Amino acid sequence: MKFEVTILGSSSATPVFNRNPSAQLLNCNEKYYLIDCGEGTQQQLTKYNLKASRIDYIFISHLHGDHYFGLIGLLSSLHLNGRIKPMQIFGPKHLLEILEIQFKYSDTVLRYPIEFFPIEADKSVQIFENSDLTVKTIILNHRIPTTGFIFQQKKRQRKLIKEKTDQVPMAYYTSLKKGIDVELPNGDILRSEDYTTEADAPRCYAYCSDTLFDERYFDTIKDCDTLYHEATFMHDLLERAKETHHTTALQAAEVAKITGAKKLLIGHFSSRYKTLQMLFEEAQSVFENTELAIEGRTFQL
Ligand SMILES: [Zn+2]
Ligand SMILES: [Zn+2]
Repeated sequence: MKFEVTILGSSSATPVFNRNPSAQLLNCNEKYYLIDCGEGTQQQLTKYNLKASRIDYIFISHLHGDHYFGLIGLLSSLHLNGRIKPMQIFGPKHLLEILEIQFKYSDTVLRYPIEFFPIEADKSVQIFENSDLTVKTIILNHRIPTTGFIFQQKKRQRKLIKEKTDQVPMAYYTSLKKGIDVELPNGDILRSEDYTTEADAPRCYAYCSDTLFDERYFDTIKDCDTLYHEATFMHDLLERAKETHHTTALQAAEVAKITGAKKLLIGHFSSRYKTLQMLFEEAQSVFENTELAIEGRTFQL
């Protein structure tokens, strides 16, 4: 099953050096989840041949503009392009008011319903579930209420061994995949473990947008396979990071190490860095399996 994320933007605050503000597109089993929606997200989707119309769920971490200024444009375009299926949006409660006022004064009545789910940034809770995954909030420590998100895949059914099941009537597949042995009319038993293999282990992706390094959220993201963590500054600007409630590249790597992540993606780079190699090296000095969240890159989770 596909479980991958494409980076659409990883700049903090302003678009600069061809870098766009925060946005990522998660593909889980061919369903699309947009995580944050900074200015320019629509163009980024087009640039990387990703269809905005396929997005059914949007998660907004907080109300600093670099995380949602692209949303009204994206929602308007979907309306103009004839969307009728609902869009589920999860975000801080005032986001709905902001959207409604823009639609009101542009006299826009969307052709499709927005199903809005307000998020409280006080305790980590599950906010979404379908047959593929669950989404839980991560309570971050920023200047305004901010949550990250954990996308946790569900356990899948066992996988059929094709060469062996060719001769088995399809009617028995469901039971075999569930691990249930099947008795044939002639009394023969088909043992599930002979015809199937263990499903892939469910994986998990944690998205930590803007935050101060704060061990209170470490438990929530413990043992995630891939951790995206903001790394706005180099560690020589630790004081600036603390003042603005952000993290340094070194600290992001420490979070990955302490919480037992298998892979770290760093992003939300300050506009003071024209190139990103130094941030990468700083993080990698603490956590080997680090990658830069470069726009256009897709990471298997
Ligand atoms: Zn930000
Ligand atoms: Zn912010």
